[in-house]
Amino acid sequence: MTDEPLLAEDSNELRRAVIDTACAMNDAGINVNKAGNVSVRCTRGSRAGLLITPTGLDYGELQPADLVFLRLADGSHTGGREPSSEWRFHLDIHRARPELIAIVHTHSPSATALACHGRGIPPFHYMVAAAGGADIRCAPYATFGTQALSDHALAALTDRKACLLAHHGVIACEASLPQALALAIEVEHLARMYLAACALGEPPRLPDDEMARVLAKFEHYGQPGPGH
Ligand SMILES: [Zn+2]
Repeated sequence: MTDEPLLAEDSNELRRAVIDTACAMNDAGINVNKAGNVSVRCTRGSRAGLLITPTGLDYGELQPADLVFLRLADGSHTGGREPSSEWRFHLDIHRARPELIAIVHTHSPSATALACHGRGIPPFHYMVAAAGGADIRCAPYATFGTQALSDHALAALTDRKACLLAHHGVIACEASLPQALALAIEVEHLARMYLAACALGEPPRLPDDEMARVLAKFEHYGQPGPGH
């Protein structure tokens, strides 16, 4: 992975992939109705930007033309639809983290339950490293759609590919749409396991040196997929 990956050109196929990811998020049970949103970085001619799901439309009804292309340079857009109300953090993450191409935002229930207590996910299980570090942080609360929320999210994502948002939900970012969706599902699964483990009291945590070993293995071999 390089810091400046080659970006796909805005296309019908790419737009379909964003819609498929949004629908898959709900089918996977990590989101309901229109709560979450999805974006992917791409180019349109010489302009860098991102395709993002629009606000106010059911994912099942989305057509490629409904997606909104936001210019990376100034966040401006054209076309008939308005971008998701969370376009600010999508834009800011795409600007700050060029290695992360796709972003999935959900209100998945177990992760959000933790986030409602302002709690992230500690290293209780080695797969926490799938998010890029020894823990998954929870960003402080700010009103949805605000610059403050975006600032908090970016800080919580430092050296990470996922974070929780207090009293709100989850952000998962990866090098592709399928990987971002898989990470969002992984974060929800980890949160569910953590809550279950907490039923017997706060579980012991893996030590820093073990999480460092796991992170090194993930970097070397790539992240384990299903069946690992
Ligand atoms: Zn949200």
